[in-house]
Amino acid sequence: MPLIMVTGFPTSGKSTRAKQLYSYLDDRIKDTPNGAAPKYRLHLISDQTLSIPRSVYDLSALPAHTRSANASEKDARAAIYGAVKRVLSDKDIVILDGLNYIKGWRYQLHCESKAVRTPSCLLQIGCPTDKAKEVNQERLRKQQEAEPASQHPAQSSPGDENEAPYAPENWENLVFRYEEPNAMTRWDSPLFTLLWDDDEEQTKQTFNSLWDAVAGEGRKIVKPNQATIQRGRDAGGDYLYILDRETQDVVKRILDQQSEEGGDEIRLPKDPSQASGDELVVELPTGKKTGLPQLQRMRRAYMNLNRGGIGLELVGNLSGSARIRDSFVRYLNDAFEREG
Ligand code: ADP
Ligand code: MG
Repeated sequence: MPLIMVTGFPTSGKSTRAKQLYSYLDDRIKDTPNGAAPKYRLHLISDQTLSIPRSVYDLSALPAHTRSANASEKDARAAIYGAVKRVLSDKDIVILDGLNYIKGWRYQLHCESKAVRTPSCLLQIGCPTDKAKEVNQERLRKQQEAEPASQHPAQSSPGDENEAPYAPENWENLVFRYEEPNAMTRWDSPLFTLLWDDDEEQTKQTFNSLWDAVAGEGRKIVKPNQATIQRGRDAGGDYLYILDRETQDVVKRILDQQSEEGGDEIRLPKDPSQASGDELVVELPTGKKTGLPQLQRMRRAYMNLNRGGIGLELVGNLSGSARIRDSFVRYLNDAFEREG
């Protein structure tokens, strides 16, 4: 299975819950009928298992103009991404304990698990800000006691990395930057929540439903995205040409039909060669017009993703052109939803 992303404020109890979940899943995996071999392997990945210090998230340590490109956090994300990718499969349950506070990051990981045909879900740790802050301050105090002479009290210290505090500004900033999960989106669902005060019984119930969603009998079958299906063997040399032509046409129709205020639903034919065929619907973001540069950027990104191809062979009675149009429209709607 399955990727379980833990998310929440700094020092909100994520690692504590991740460990509880690990031991719960460990028991469940080992509990097989008649001592059969377990179906899953279990992994716990966190900043600590990868030796990533808290300070990588600290923007206050950077000069203002470089903040948007916080390289250390980017490197950290690449390391985490690599670690998840290395083990994630339908037979490997990965608990990713971390802030996971960026919407686009959760989306990326969701796609990654979809690509290996396994479910992903989110476990949000709900904790009042005051409570979480208290925990951090307590840790800062302890650290200062332990090394009173230190010039950098909030830098990570040797010892238990799990217990390392965040520098106060770093902590405040991470709370401010936190992008709340939205269970209505595919990448943040299913969404499970544990509160600070949830007792053992409640926690167990939540873990039970989480298990059902990602490993139980009734779990959904995960298909890789239409947009990244491999090109069929018989795809001709004109594939890139058709890809270009169809995506151009979709962009043109959006530009022709949209109004000044934005928010339109643009209807376009799935297969223009058929007089009365299915329609595709593009849902544009509200409140602003979606311009040509943005659409071209998205079109190029889509083309880059699909250089390898989606099959041009007939599927059912759908032509290659129609499949490209369908998958491009889906891609656009996803992107608008994600940005909106
Ligand atoms: P995070 O991983 O989010 O930084 P931790 O799991 O390390 O947070 O928890 C921070 C501190 O709060 C730890 O000392 C832990 O023992 C305590 N703690 C975490 N969750 C709870 C809880 N639900 N109830 C009581 N104490 C908790
Ligand atoms: Mg932690």
